[in-house]
Amino acid sequence: MLGKGSKLYSIAKLKCPRCHEGDLFENNSLLSWSRFSQMKDHCSVCQQVYEPEPGYYYGAMYVSYGLTTAPTLAFVVLMMLYSGEVTLWSLMAALVLSLVLFLPAIFKLSRAIWINIFISYNPTAASSPQARGH
Ligand SMILES: [Zn+2]
Repeated sequence: MLGKGSKLYSIAKLKCPRCHEGDLFENNSLLSWSRFSQMKDHCSVCQQVYEPEPGYYYGAMYVSYGLTTAPTLAFVVLMMLYSGEVTLWSLMAALVLSLVLFLPAIFKLSRAIWINIFISYNPTAASSPQARGH
């Protein structure tokens, strides 16, 4: 299921949504803070442009809100298990902790999910690169 050709593969491995070969980011590691926001501007294998228009990733923000709730909820559940109650402050702490720990992952995954909504896998893309328009 996580093989090449599935959108999950492209998202989890941060690969080009079209050929599943090229990396999406300069630093393609999920939890690394180093240059985490630097996306490549096109695929090095099939030449797919990653940002077809300015503001393309505006909507990815909503995806990242969704992704942030997962670790936040996990922390909240942990707090409930340990202290038996959840206060507004502990909720805020859970949110900040999630952002601090997972910001690079959330940023990258939300962009990978976003671009995968619009661009589909093309098995022949890697062998017949798109002409690079400008
Ligand atoms: Zn590609």
